[in-house]
Amino acid sequence: MTSPQAILKKYFGYSSFRNGQEEIINATISGKDTLVLMPTGGGKSICYQVPALLLPGCSIVVSPLIALMNDQVLALKANGIPAVAIHSNQDEYINQDNLYKSSKGEIKLIYISPERLISDIDLIASKIKVSLVAIDEAHCISQWGHDFRPVYTSLRCVKEKFCNVPVMALTATADRLTRNDIAIALGLDNPYCWTGSFDRPNISLRVMNDPGKKQRLKIIAGLINKYHLDSGIVYCLSRKKTEAMHEALSDMGYRSVCYHAGLSPQQREEAQKAFVNGDAQVVCATIAFGMGIDKSNIRWVVHNNIPGNIESYYQEIGRAGRDGLPAEAIMFYNFGDILMRRSFVEASGQKEINSEKLDFMQKFAEATVCRRRILLSYFSEEITHDCGNCDNCRNPRKKFDGTITAQKALSAVIRVNSGESMNTIVDILRASTRADIISKGYHQLKTYGAGRDLTPLEWNSYILQMIQLGLFEVAYEDNFHLRPTPYGMRVVKGLERIQLSTFEKPVFGAINKKREPEPVVSLSPDEQLMEILKKLRKKISDSQNIAAYMVFSDATLKEMVEKRPVDIESFSRISGVGEVKLTKYGKDFIAEIRKFEGLKRSMPAGTSQKETLILFNSGMNPEKISELKNVTVSTVYSHLVQWADEGKMIEFRRLLTEEEYNLVVKTFEKDPENAFRILADGHHIPSYIIRAAQAEQRFRTK
Ligand code: ADP
Ligand code: ZN
Repeated sequence: MTSPQAILKKYFGYSSFRNGQEEIINATISGKDTLVLMPTGGGKSICYQVPALLLPGCSIVVSPLIALMNDQVLALKANGIPAVAIHSNQDEYINQDNLYKSSKGEIKLIYISPERLISDIDLIASKIKVSLVAIDEAHCISQWGHDFRPVYTSLRCVKEKFCNVPVMALTATADRLTRNDIAIALGLDNPYCWTGSFDRPNISLRVMNDPGKKQRLKIIAGLINKYHLDSGIVYCLSRKKTEAMHEALSDMGYRSVCYHAGLSPQQREEAQKAFVNGDAQVVCATIAFGMGIDKSNIRWVVHNNIPGNIESYYQEIGRAGRDGLPAEAIMFYNFGDILMRRSFVEASGQKEINSEKLDFMQKFAEATVCRRRILLSYFSEEITHDCGNCDNCRNPRKKFDGTITAQKALSAVIRVNSGESMNTIVDILRASTRADIISKGYHQLKTYGAGRDLTPLEWNSYILQMIQLGLFEVAYEDNFHLRPTPYGMRVVKGLERIQLSTFEKPVFGAINKKREPEPVVSLSPDEQLMEILKKLRKKISDSQNIAAYMVFSDATLKEMVEKRPVDIESFSRISGVGEVKLTKYGKDFIAEIRKFEGLKRSMPAGTSQKETLILFNSGMNPEKISELKNVTVSTVYSHLVQWADEGKMIEFRRLLTEEEYNLVVKTFEKDPENAFRILADGHHIPSYIIRAAQAEQRFRTK
């Protein structure tokens, strides 16, 4: 049996497994059930794709993300792996054909929706030799999870219908409660559990108290400019907000697309395609966007509104920086969003759980300690140091005696008889001349204008802190009016003092007022080469009608830029270059790199034999090598025969069969004079096979 390692290199072009992958694969091929918890981008797919190639028959991958299945199938095919998708989003005759092909043993991986698997399970169990069932997004089975899908609970029958077939459950988001639930709900049999680290240290974290609409746009524009070759996502709370953001960014001259559930499937597909291909710099999306997108050069994610729970937040920021290079996550936070989310929670089916999850999210947003520690401890991961890559680590908050500030706000609240919400209180403190302030006579209050020394943003931040500290409570049932608590009353009477965190003014750094749509930056040589390679990739992906990342990922291009491979051998060592892609694209990419390096397009003489040996030893068969190098099979054989004669170990069984060998040896023993002719004419053995057999004989008798 081929080793997992060899499969990884041959099909995916990677030379080593990531943490956990090998253990999971080994457990699976030895027949064990597995539970895989890895963050987005952790490399879950490999965990079932490699076993699928190692095991006989076919592996089933259950995923609720129908929209992405065809992409995943295309990506597998691009690596030379026969895969199909079965779901309700494509014509039924295609589904039938895919089932038929699978039953004939032509397919290694079937991606299928849970509904379809359940409805066809008897048919599939009887017609298809299934060796593994992988259940992706497995947290959907748990009522404790943030994305419970009732259809998932029926997947319990998988263990019953496919006896002795290992089941792998995978998820990127699960708190402790959900984790336990998954294994039980699926009926996994004493599963091997792997929990990868959820740490994504390359993503810098930042939460900003509402900087206002204009500044938000500036910050986003700043990110687009900073990463103008790459792309980012702005997550918004609603379709309307998504569209407004998209329009604002388009108006500013950025290449933006919009993505939400209100668009037609075709519009969504187009948006996704534009994003994946790099035609769009930014996608403004509701949460529906991005699950499973294998786009490794997302450099930043902005949450324009607070997500409803930590799981969603972590999953969404996790789409950035999958290639491990630095990425940025910024979340804008305002109290209004929390209120809006609260109303969603009230309306949701699982009020209590969702409410707790939202509380935690809010605490995260308001936290003044290291944010990564909060996140990782949420996923039950121990972290004993501050990360140094979040806003709180970079800018530890200073505290000040906020007693007087608090007293001003408290007394304003008391003077309006707890009949106003936060915004009006701030307006009173800041002496706004808004019509209703005047008409209500608030301008005659003693506290009117008492807070003029602070900006509205500062007031927002401080009142929020006062709410968190328990000086006020918010009357959710009564138009969100602020009310002083007993603790607040003690502060206003001067019986207690309080500390507030100093307001941190948002730093807008290099963002200009007047923006230049695409800054003309002088590119470093590396960036120049990167652009050249990206252009070539785009040309190829356009002509083959596949997504750019299916040709090569950014991480792979980046390694090409760093290592500058100028021959097939060094090119084949680049991570992400598997056999099929080496054959299909190697020559073109090497040619571009050679040109960039000022080398002749063709390779220097003498490297050819060496190259053949290296390719052969890396597992490529002679036919593939001949295709790749554009030489005849006979030439490939002659190279290998030369190496054998020089004493290099050659796996002769990959050049000729035992029978061929025996036949050649015997024929030469009987009639050395005419052997060649007899073999060639009488037995139709090609001359290069005859020579290989002779070389093998020399090698054996040495
Ligand atoms: P997940 O499903 O966990 O979000 P993926 O399976 O999509 O993550 O993997 C994320 C990225 O990492 C993909 O581009 C994938 O090709 C790459 N990857 C996975 N395993 C390896 C590995 N062993 N070496 C290098 N890259 C890998
Ligand atoms: Zn930190």
